[in-house]
Amino acid sequence: MDETLPFEGFVTLFFATIGTCFAMMIWVEALAPLNSDQEKNQVRHAIRNFGLWLTAFVVADLVIGIAFLKIPDHLYQISFGLFYWLPLPSSVLLIIAGILVIDVFSYLFHRLLHQIPWLWQIHSVHHSDIELDVTTSIRNHPFDLVLGNLWKAVGCLLFGIPLWIIALREIIFLPFILLQHANIRVPDRLEYILSLAVISPAIHKHHHSIIRAEHDSNYGTGLVIWDKLFRTFQQPRLPIPKELGVRGLQEEKWQSIMGMLLTPFRYKPEKITAIPKPDGV
Ligand SMILES: [Zn+2]
Ligand SMILES: [Zn+2]
Repeated sequence: MDETLPFEGFVTLFFATIGTCFAMMIWVEALAPLNSDQEKNQVRHAIRNFGLWLTAFVVADLVIGIAFLKIPDHLYQISFGLFYWLPLPSSVLLIIAGILVIDVFSYLFHRLLHQIPWLWQIHSVHHSDIELDVTTSIRNHPFDLVLGNLWKAVGCLLFGIPLWIIALREIIFLPFILLQHANIRVPDRLEYILSLAVISPAIHKHHHSIIRAEHDSNYGTGLVIWDKLFRTFQQPRLPIPKELGVRGLQEEKWQSIMGMLLTPFRYKPEKITAIPKPDGV
């Protein structure tokens, strides 16, 4: 395996991919919207989510990203991690194993984001969107991105996976992650085919339900296998839940850029945890 593969090159490819996919999704959202009532607030909604992303980008991608670029050399110098001690027979197998490991680490981190109260206070910013469209994909609190990137880097360190495989996995799953949130009417056949391998749009939209028993499920970000393996999968009954968001975070004050940035410090999740779960869930 060529350990000098440029991580910067993957980052550039990542931004080219996200830009192209974003433009395509916005175009299809206009052609075939799942919920046409959302259009009146579309521009303000997009500006707010992009604004939060810019803040998160400056904090997470510039501050932590710089550290990422320096880590690979360091990792190779110390030759640490499972796949260094037990090397795989080919580069292709290392890439496949690396993507699977990072994907299960992402699943586990997302599960912790929902189950540990202070992490939920951070992650609730992604869930507090009361209208879903492609811009919801980038609605993450800076702390969410920083902790998520560090978590994945720790996974790479433990398993001896080159860090550029994080960027490669992001590029592969990015179109699916954008489609999961996009306000696009996905044909049933396509939805079914996607759901066999990845987190499909309906599966992830179910995860944005306002009902806690429903949004505490379907934690995968790429492959669907982890939710099925660890029994956190719920089959969506509708293409999109009747009500989205988080109880207690629906008011206007939580939807502004400043409101989203302050949510982890002001939101008191204990007020909503008393909601009883439906039987059989
Ligand atoms: Zn979530
Ligand atoms: Zn989401």
